[in-house]
Amino acid sequence: MNKYTDVLIIGAGLSGLMAAAKAAEQGKEVMLVAKGMGAVGLSSGCIDLWGYNLEDPNQVCQDPLAEIARLCAVNPQHPYARVRDVLEESLLFFRRVCQENGNPYLDHRGGNWLLPTALGTLRPTYLAPASMAVGDLQQVRGVLVVGFRELKDFYPDVLAANLKKSGVLQADCPLNTLMVCAGGGELTPNTLAYRLENPAVVDRIVDQIKPHLLPGAVLLLPPVLGERWDSQVAKNLAEKLGHPVYEVTNIPPALPGQRLQQMLLHHVKGQGVEVVIGCTVNGARVADKRCTEVLATGAGKPIKISAKTVILATGSFLGGGLESKPGKAWESIFGLPVETGHEKWSARDFLSMAGHLFNQMGIKVNEHLRPVDKTGEVIIENVMVTGANLAGCNHPIEKCGNGVAVASGYKAGKLAGEVGE
Ligand SMILES: Cc1cc2nc3c(=O)[nH]c(=O)nc-3n(C[C@H](O)[C@H](O)[C@H](O)COP(=O)(O)OP(=O)(O)OC[C@H]3O[C@@H](n4cnc5c(N)ncnc54)[C@H](O)[C@@H]3O)c2cc1C
Repeated sequence: MNKYTDVLIIGAGLSGLMAAAKAAEQGKEVMLVAKGMGAVGLSSGCIDLWGYNLEDPNQVCQDPLAEIARLCAVNPQHPYARVRDVLEESLLFFRRVCQENGNPYLDHRGGNWLLPTALGTLRPTYLAPASMAVGDLQQVRGVLVVGFRELKDFYPDVLAANLKKSGVLQADCPLNTLMVCAGGGELTPNTLAYRLENPAVVDRIVDQIKPHLLPGAVLLLPPVLGERWDSQVAKNLAEKLGHPVYEVTNIPPALPGQRLQQMLLHHVKGQGVEVVIGCTVNGARVADKRCTEVLATGAGKPIKISAKTVILATGSFLGGGLESKPGKAWESIFGLPVETGHEKWSARDFLSMAGHLFNQMGIKVNEHLRPVDKTGEVIIENVMVTGANLAGCNHPIEKCGNGVAVASGYKAGKLAGEVGE
């Protein structure tokens, strides 16, 4: 099968979906192919922009946009230095898309939220879905942590004990825990979320929580309030309780990330983007520094796709965009170079606060997100690279993975939209 399109996006992660949304908005014919879904469905669903201070990594960053401006001055190789011109506009675009699709994302007066995790630690993030945006815990007049007997990955007592230790709550703030029953035997986050879509189950939960609610207390639950991005579970639960409810972040699989992924897929399909999941790109033909054809396999059949612009949103080693063998790493479709350096790729300590070098490996690009060689020369003129594929980002430590994906995907989609007929 042969296909032709204005913009071909390879990858259905956050950066690929953002690129698709922006290119389609500008009237381009867009095709998105991916062998599977992206990392955003495993993530917290929050958009981390920049977590900690450059000078003092123990301090939560109060003004991520200002910190990123400083970062770009001291580290011009960081992916943010390539997308800084559109960073704020990309965040506005992301929020508009989320708002239009009924899954609003909130900022915290331009600073970082400090959101409780299932372990009772506090994690900084820039944009949070409304169901997680719990506000200033310093101000609250009580906390009730509710768990489900059927759910194994959430322990209210652990959350409460560590939250107390963190010192974020006022000394006299009451902190209580409660286990409720949703019925149905042992449940995973997804099966519990599915169960909660039933109003009778929500009523049952409400009856169990109500006697324990103190006025003004914050009610924290695991992130299971709804399967889909347009689910009404959180709203119904809050209305029936007469009290706001909040989801905390938890280990994957985390429903808020899955909801974001589904919502963006729904949005781009509504914009006319042709989406083919289960389609693996195996290689490409390049002539005169231009990609003339991409070679893929979908449903066991070969597909050749030609496009004016190709956006490589294939997501580093985890996504499948980069491959490696000892001492060598490369990009898997075009064979683009990936610098590995001479140091060890991983730290001995898995939880090393310096992170692992392999996370920073990736493809070097210019300010138009085109891949470049060591001398800065563009390797393929009609290819752009986005997200986790970009070199120089230590996202687990810097807390910027989804931020880089939003901004670079948006920029690639915008630039693709400007390519003439
Ligand atoms: C478990 C986990 C939790 C995380 N939590 C957070 C968090 O809480 N906050 C945060 O900001 N960041 C988080 N991150 C980081 C962040 O999610 C990623 O950096 C970001 O989403 C990367 O998006 P991407 O579009 O670049 O790539 P990916 O999401 O990896 O998407 C890559 C896409 O390319 C496709 N693909 C790859 N190769 C091919 C091929 N040959 N042919 C066709 N398709 C292909 C894949 O199937 C996939 O669809 C987390 C990451 C992980 C893994």
